[in-house]
Amino acid sequence: MSPISGSRGVLGAAAVHLNLTAVPTTLAQLTTLRLGGPAGRVEVAASSDELVRLVAAADEVGEPVLLVGGGSNLVVGDAGWPGLVIRVASDTIGREDADGEQLITVAAGVAWDDLVAATVADGLAGLETMSGIPGLTGATPVQNVGAYGSEVADVLTGLRVYDRLSRTVQPWGPQQCRFGFRTSAFKHTDRFVVLDVTLRLVRRRESGPVRYLELARRLGIEPGESAPLADVRDAVLDLRRSKGMVLDEADHDSWSVGSFFVNPLLDEAPAQAEGCPRWQTDGRTKLSAAWLIEQAGFFRGWGLDRGRGTVSVSTKHTLALTNRGGATTAELLALAAEIRDGVQARFGIRLGPEAHLRNCAF
Ligand SMILES: Cc1cc2nc3c(=O)[nH]c(=O)nc-3n(C[C@H](O)[C@H](O)[C@H](O)COP(=O)(O)OP(=O)(O)OC[C@H]3O[C@@H](n4cnc5c(N)ncnc54)[C@H](O)[C@@H]3O)c2cc1C
Repeated sequence: MSPISGSRGVLGAAAVHLNLTAVPTTLAQLTTLRLGGPAGRVEVAASSDELVRLVAAADEVGEPVLLVGGGSNLVVGDAGWPGLVIRVASDTIGREDADGEQLITVAAGVAWDDLVAATVADGLAGLETMSGIPGLTGATPVQNVGAYGSEVADVLTGLRVYDRLSRTVQPWGPQQCRFGFRTSAFKHTDRFVVLDVTLRLVRRRESGPVRYLELARRLGIEPGESAPLADVRDAVLDLRRSKGMVLDEADHDSWSVGSFFVNPLLDEAPAQAEGCPRWQTDGRTKLSAAWLIEQAGFFRGWGLDRGRGTVSVSTKHTLALTNRGGATTAELLALAAEIRDGVQARFGIRLGPEAHLRNCAF
């Protein structure tokens, strides 16, 4: 394995929210929603060892720890975070070639989309449909990120984890991660810190079979066919931009956590939800949260014309709740509660958040 350090230089510019020269004092400066009150104390972990050391030292004295990557899946309360905020900035990448494949071991602090761009440019297939997802690599196993027919569990062969309970660094295999749809063993607990992940990519100029209909159409191919990696990346980025799903300072529709609500997984869909797009996942029925929300009367742009209009459903994507500027977390969560309750009243289905809520609830 040949470690390449300083990967930000190799991979291009770091994510917008990893401006390590500025010293943030509020969580609003560290989250893509631009919401969240004051941070008690902020430290930067520039290596895996430093990350472990900072977490262990805080645990030793009982100081609450909040790990922040790109802040793109985090909703933090207006009271902020009373303890230690750790910005993950470890940035090494190791590569190992084997039989037409490459195993890459990527530190938690590497910006995910820089990694995707670099692998596409290098002719390595496996990440291309996950182009444009904000945030850092270390958070990708947390909710098993995915888009356009792929998820990180498809390519992950292992990771290193710091277990805050046993205070040990452990190698984990994919089975241990209990990956599911937007979930994993890391999702509902603060116990584990992901230090690095190892991904298996295939040396090939063409993508794997494109399964997602909308993407296949955009590429002008039939579902199941392949396309050049760079074309797939460009098509995904185009589609994402049209939905406000690529971070853009000037586009308030991207001042979000992506999908706020997760598609509900049910043993059985209620009769009222007839017509709702559905998929079989993990032996259960997954319903489209976007359809449920729209049918309950919450359309794109909902909230813009009401009150101060500081929060709204994105004008481009029903699942994204957005900060239009000057919002508070309380306002965003009031909107989330209104939508959740409206869907429950109409369909008897309670939507849950995909995002991580810290020091706040709804
Ligand atoms: C515009 C937009 C589009 C998006 N599109 C998608 C999409 O297509 N698919 C998708 O799956 N997601 C999507 N997301 C959600 C988000 O980008 C992903 O969940 C991403 O992986 C979060 O990474 P992050 O570094 O920003 O995590 P953060 O938001 O910083 O953290 C998220 C959670 O993980 C924890 N965490 C962070 N790093 C670590 C670590 N190293 N070890 C353990 N815990 C850690 C944090 O404490 C927090 O609880 C989107 C978000 C936005 C804003």
